[in-house]
Amino acid sequence: MTIERLIQRAIENIPEVDTEVIMKAYKFAKRAHENQTRKSGEAYIEHSIFTAFELVQIKADLNTVVAGLLHDVPEDTQYTIEDIRKEFGDDVASLVNGITKLGKIKYRGIERYRENLKKMFLAITDDIRIVYIKFCDRLHNLKTLDALPKNKQERIARETLEIYTPIAGLLGIWRLKWQMEDICFKHLYPKEYQELEYEYEIEKRSERNQFFQKTKNILEKELKKTKIDYEITARFKHLYSIWQKMQRKDRKFDEIYDVFALRVVVKNIENCYKVLGIIHTIWKPLLNRFKDYIAVPKPNGYRSLHTTVIGIDNKATEFQIKTREMYEESLFGSQSHWNYKSDRSSTKKPGWVNEMLEIQKENKNTEDFVKEIKFNIFQDRIFVFSPKGDVIELPIKSTPIDFAYAIHTDIGNRVTQAIVNEKIVTLNHELKNGDLVEIIIDKSRKSPNNEWLSFVKTKKAKERIKQYSKNKTLDKFKKIFYKDVS
Ligand code: MN
Repeated sequence: MTIERLIQRAIENIPEVDTEVIMKAYKFAKRAHENQTRKSGEAYIEHSIFTAFELVQIKADLNTVVAGLLHDVPEDTQYTIEDIRKEFGDDVASLVNGITKLGKIKYRGIERYRENLKKMFLAITDDIRIVYIKFCDRLHNLKTLDALPKNKQERIARETLEIYTPIAGLLGIWRLKWQMEDICFKHLYPKEYQELEYEYEIEKRSERNQFFQKTKNILEKELKKTKIDYEITARFKHLYSIWQKMQRKDRKFDEIYDVFALRVVVKNIENCYKVLGIIHTIWKPLLNRFKDYIAVPKPNGYRSLHTTVIGIDNKATEFQIKTREMYEESLFGSQSHWNYKSDRSSTKKPGWVNEMLEIQKENKNTEDFVKEIKFNIFQDRIFVFSPKGDVIELPIKSTPIDFAYAIHTDIGNRVTQAIVNEKIVTLNHELKNGDLVEIIIDKSRKSPNNEWLSFVKTKKAKERIKQYSKNKTLDKFKKIFYKDVS
C-alpha cells in the first residue's frame, strides 16, 4: 500500500478531499513512527496507510482519514495529542484521542471482554467515526495476524467475532463485517474454512456463474422493453455467513440454496417496485419470502426489496432490488460521512444507539451495563457440540433440554438423561460455550415433563412442552365432557 494510491482513491471517494492535509498527516506519522516495524516486518507506516485507505474505501470524511493515518501516534511515539491538535485541529485530535482511549484495556478474561464492549459502545455514542477507525485498524491487524503467536491470533480473532463484527452489523458496515468475519473464520476453524472454500470457490463456481448469467439474460430481455436504467450483479454470500447458516439450520453446503442473490440496482424507489413486478411476472414468487425493507427498513437502517422466486430449473432464486444510494449505504453503513457534513449534533443515530444511551444512564457499573446491552442489543448466544460434531447455537443459560429440542422435537420429548463433557448432569444444568452434550432418550416415552418449563430458555422448547400439556388438558377435558354427556 502506498500513499499515492491512498491519495488517488481519496480524490475519487471524498468530496471535500484536501490532498495537502493527507500528505501532511502522512509525513507526520512517518516521522513519528520512524524506525518502528510491525511484527510482520513491514514498516509501521504501512499499517497507518492501510487503516486510512480502508476508511477512504468506506467513504469516511477527510478528518477521519487523517485521524486514521495518525491513530497510533500518541500511543506508540513521543508525539502527543497536543502536537496533533496544533497541526491538525480539534476534530482530528479528538478522533485520535478517542482511538487511544479505546485501545487501553487493562483487564484479562471476561473483565477484558466487558471493558472492551463498554468502551466500544461509549465510543459509538461519543463519535461513531472513532469506531470506524477502530474497525479499519482491526482489519489490518487481522490481515497481518500470521506474524503473531498462535494463542494471540486466536484471542484477537475471537474478540473480533464477539465484539467487532456484531457491532459492524448493527452499524450496517457490511464491507468491513464480511472481511473481518472471513479472516477470523479462517484462523479459528481452519479445517472447516478450507473445506467450504473448496466446495464454494472451486467446485461450484462455474455452475453458479452459468446459472447467474442465464437468469440475468432472461430478466434483461424484459427490462430492455422498459425505460428503466438498471445494473444487475451477483451478490455472493461470504464463507462465514454460509457456514453460520449451515450450523444454524443443521444443513450441508448443498442444501443452502441462497448462497448468492441477483442484485438489481436502479435509479429510484419507484423503479424498485417496477422491477419487482417484472420479476414476479417472469417467475413465481415463493410465499413468505418477500421482504419490503424499503417500506420497513431493518433496525440498522438497511433498505432493499428482497424476493425469492422459483427460477430456472425450478431453483429458488433470490433477488435484491435497491437504489444506488441504498446499495452504498449497505456497504459503508448509513452512518457514513454524509451525515457528518451538517451539524454534528443533528447526526442521525439508529434507534438502538438511543436505547443504549438510556441503558447507560441507568447502569453505572460496567457489569450491569454490559449485561443489559448484551440482553437487549446483542443476542447472547453459545455454541455447543453434539457427539457427532454438529454445532448447535443456543441462547446463554440454555439447558440440555433446550439442546435436545434444538436437535429434534422427538428427542426433546424423550430425554431421560444428559451427559455434558462426559459427566452426567441434571436436566436443568446450564450449558457453556464449547460443551459436548449427549442426550439419552427413552424411546417408549412420548411426553415431556411439565416441570421443564421452569428452566428451559429457548422458544422452541417452551412451545413444544406447552403444546404437549395443552393437548393433555384437552384430552382430560374431552374425557370429562364425554363422561358428563354419557
Ligand atoms: Mn493501529
